[in-house]
Amino acid sequence: MKSHNKSIEHYFSTIGEKADEIGLSKEKIKKDFLQKLFYQLGRVPAVTTSNDLYTALALTVRDRVLRQFVRSTEEFSKKNSRGIAYFSAEYLPGPHLGNNLLNLEIVDETREALKELDLELDEIIEQEVEPGLGNGGLGRLASCYMDSLATLGIPAIGYGIRYEFGIFKQEIKEGWQSEATDKWLHYGNPWEVIRPEVSYVVKFGGRTIHSTNENNKYAVEWEPESEVVGTAYDTPVLGYQSNGIIMRLWKAEATESFDFSVYNMGDYYKAVEKKVRSENITKVLYPNDENLSGKELRLRQQYFFVSCSLQDMIRLNFVQGRKLEEFHEKFAIQLNDTHPSIAVAELMRLLVDEHEMEWKQAWKITRNTFAYTNHTLLPEALEKWSVSLMGRLLPRHLEIIYEINSRFLHELREKGLSGEQIARMSLIDEHGEPSVRMAHLATVGSFRVNGVSQLHSRLLKTQVLNDFAEIWPDKFTNVTNGVAHRRFLAVSNPGLSRLITEKIGNGWLTDLTTLKRLEKFADDEIFQKQWMEVKLENKKLLSQLLEERAGVKIDPTMLFDVQVKRIHEYKRQHLMLLHILDLYLKIKDGKGENIAPSAFIFAGKAAPGYFMAKLIIRLVTAVADLVNNDKDVNKILKVAFLPNFSVKQAQRVYPAADLSEQISMAGKEASGTGNMKFALNGALTIGTLDGANVEIREEVGEENFFLFGQTTEEVQETRRLGYRPSKYYEEQEDLERVLDFLVSGELGNGDHELFRPLYNNLLQQDPYQLLKDFKSYCERKHEIHQIWKDQKEWTRRSILNVSRVGKFSSDRSILEYCQNIWNVEPVKLRD
Ligand SMILES: *Cc1c(COP(=O)(O)O)cnc(C)c1O
Repeated sequence: MKSHNKSIEHYFSTIGEKADEIGLSKEKIKKDFLQKLFYQLGRVPAVTTSNDLYTALALTVRDRVLRQFVRSTEEFSKKNSRGIAYFSAEYLPGPHLGNNLLNLEIVDETREALKELDLELDEIIEQEVEPGLGNGGLGRLASCYMDSLATLGIPAIGYGIRYEFGIFKQEIKEGWQSEATDKWLHYGNPWEVIRPEVSYVVKFGGRTIHSTNENNKYAVEWEPESEVVGTAYDTPVLGYQSNGIIMRLWKAEATESFDFSVYNMGDYYKAVEKKVRSENITKVLYPNDENLSGKELRLRQQYFFVSCSLQDMIRLNFVQGRKLEEFHEKFAIQLNDTHPSIAVAELMRLLVDEHEMEWKQAWKITRNTFAYTNHTLLPEALEKWSVSLMGRLLPRHLEIIYEINSRFLHELREKGLSGEQIARMSLIDEHGEPSVRMAHLATVGSFRVNGVSQLHSRLLKTQVLNDFAEIWPDKFTNVTNGVAHRRFLAVSNPGLSRLITEKIGNGWLTDLTTLKRLEKFADDEIFQKQWMEVKLENKKLLSQLLEERAGVKIDPTMLFDVQVKRIHEYKRQHLMLLHILDLYLKIKDGKGENIAPSAFIFAGKAAPGYFMAKLIIRLVTAVADLVNNDKDVNKILKVAFLPNFSVKQAQRVYPAADLSEQISMAGKEASGTGNMKFALNGALTIGTLDGANVEIREEVGEENFFLFGQTTEEVQETRRLGYRPSKYYEEQEDLERVLDFLVSGELGNGDHELFRPLYNNLLQQDPYQLLKDFKSYCERKHEIHQIWKDQKEWTRRSILNVSRVGKFSSDRSILEYCQNIWNVEPVKLRD
């Protein structure tokens, strides 16, 4: 391709247009929409399907997004600032259309344009199928960060995997979770742009050949067993008021498909088989959250996307006329957990083997390029790959990891560390089957390591990575997570957004801390009334959804008590269920007078192989059946499980919640972001001192956060002293009654054994100490119900909560990454 230095302005001027006139008027939107419909989709309004309308509008908006993106790229390259590559195996962007309309500030214009065609914008927005390319919080965080990177004008690119099937679709069948394939590409994806020319070969398996070449230089060649090609699919991500960056996802394809011996039937089928095997790499997302699959295909996925991304960056480095020696000055790479951490070895391989750089220099570049975000302290989620698998799939990388390790351990011996400590820090775990500790590889190969909340970062330093923090105290830092408040307030809660903007202006869209100005209206009775009306309206909408999807009718004036997140024992959905059963039994005894009418709403997916999590879902549906069908109870309590939790669903749930359940056992939830989204939408929180709850409580004030349960230190002390859960069963009558009820046959259609595994687990091990925290949880709930009865007081607290959550915007998180980790400054772009 010939390269030109002409700007986008130049090209538009040749057709008599201006580049910054990107057609944001109602007339232009309408015209383009019709053109897309006629000429791109070949439809006329009389025969269009809802999906045609959606696609035509999406393409209309995408043109405008792309125009902004191209302009931003020009600006970025002029400034020549350090670029950020965000490496993440998961993204959970949510629906694009509504968010892009907000960012282009054309919501009203588009609504009007469509109205003139007798079309309803909200109905069209509803058609979008979201890309479920992530499991939960981690993938959603990556997408919140894309939003903030774009808004703040930071030259960045998000690299990842274009899974053909995203996170499974959850259905509830006879009370159980069942999984269906997520065919999100079925109707096409109008947001992505294929870049066939941006593709790279990725090798797998085979052997390495070590030799000394003619110049007496030691060289290693990797002779792979197979190769695949990765092709780039770009999705532009627009920031608010129009800066754009891209999310570049790789799709795997076979290197050569049918160009040999098609006459020989045997070879033909072999060739097809090979093609299918190659393309399998990006077929499906592993649905395990906070857990390992340990499967070879997963390691293939990780290496595949990392290798494509690094090759792409090296190409960009050369395109920009830079030397490879300057790579780390040109780029910083943020590793979103250890999933992409094989990148440390891959960059070394590319520099040393393919670009013939000296090891020492390559290592200096590598260590100044990567920064690593740790996302979990759960032992079962700390990634490890067996040495034998790694050697088979990535023989050269295993050698490089051994070399890094040997130099690292040598360094440690020189520092005089004990043999025991050195063994603990080794990249190779020698206990049982030898394996590579990916968190150690990421830590050693990075210039900065961060946790995702103050508490989590402290535990990381003092426990999981303590040995490393002792030798490199300055390497460790914290960046508390944040959320894209434009999506989770402006787009998903238009009622509250309007009310807030009426009071304090719309500065909060770009600076969430201005919400502080709401504080002085917390006691304003008229404002309180408007606030309650907005919440009620949102609750009505959620009630409709729950009736459609869960078959449960809920009175929107009830207290909406909500826990939505992945189902995991550490998150303790079952603690909430034990409490609901306690209330149920009290009402049956005629002792329900102090209970505020409550709707308990659950949603979340369980990993398909996680028996206990699936049993917890079954318990939700069993409790729902019991409670909703009992005439003595169902005026006071309702229980609903909303199937298939996704970003789209999340956007309807958070705005409707009164109470946010953040009840993980302390020390287990690294940060949480659901907690922030709830608080931002005016829910009060009941929670433990875990993850970012600690900081939310600090911000909103102790009196506005319902705290219960043990602290992390108390949890560890309880365990150290030999926790005996049955003690609490024996001592607390209410708890005994609730637990026995699980196996009484009154739940799950008379089956006594259905919930026995849960019962036994709680009474015998109770690894997440529910029984110990049960009492304080119930006491707090009781208090909450009394405050709820005073709606003015509740609303006052709700307003105070919102006014004080300004810290939890992902804009703030990204600015901290810029200052404390990447050393880049936001590039100010013109409007
Ligand atoms: C925010 C979010 C999560 C994370 O929720 P937590 O409560 O922090 O676990 C998971 N899934 C979706 C769809 C989300 O929007």
